[in-house]
Amino acid sequence: MQHILVSACLLGEAVRYNGSDRRCDEPILLRWLAEGRVVPFCPEVAAGAPVPRPPSEIAGAKSGADVLVGRARVVEPDGNDVTGLFIQGAELTLARAHERGIRIAVLKEGSPSCGSDLIYDGNFSGRRLPGAGVTAARMRQGGIAVFSENRLAEADALLSLLEAPSNQS
Ligand code: SF4
Repeated sequence: MQHILVSACLLGEAVRYNGSDRRCDEPILLRWLAEGRVVPFCPEVAAGAPVPRPPSEIAGAKSGADVLVGRARVVEPDGNDVTGLFIQGAELTLARAHERGIRIAVLKEGSPSCGSDLIYDGNFSGRRLPGAGVTAARMRQGGIAVFSENRLAEADALLSLLEAPSNQS
């Protein structure tokens, strides 16, 4: 059975920066949970971030891929640089996925770690731009298909493909 790595906050774990969760009750996710294929993970908490913690954004309207090659930083509103923690969280997430043979991840949209199609612009202004966070970018580099909670149907379609008899090893 294919397992799927899912952002812990989407599963109701109160690990977000402000101590809240973003529980997602979409039927596809509930079915995966019932099937026992969900692996919860929070990159930031895994890397040692406390709950609660200040919000963070990728500075300068850059993306997670820029952070991974040293072209951008992740900062808190007071300018505190938390880039190292975010990179460590990304590496730990990819390592967990590889340990479990995971090929698909569903990560919380908009997060500087987990966002896969949208991230904030780095000004703490609430403006979002196309782009992926640090963990989502690292997971894709490592060969994992990453979807947000808004694209569960696409993730489920890929799951069906991977579990089709002709693709079983
Ligand atoms: Fe959720 Fe990811 Fe943020 Fe953790 S790092 S709280 S899993 S969005």
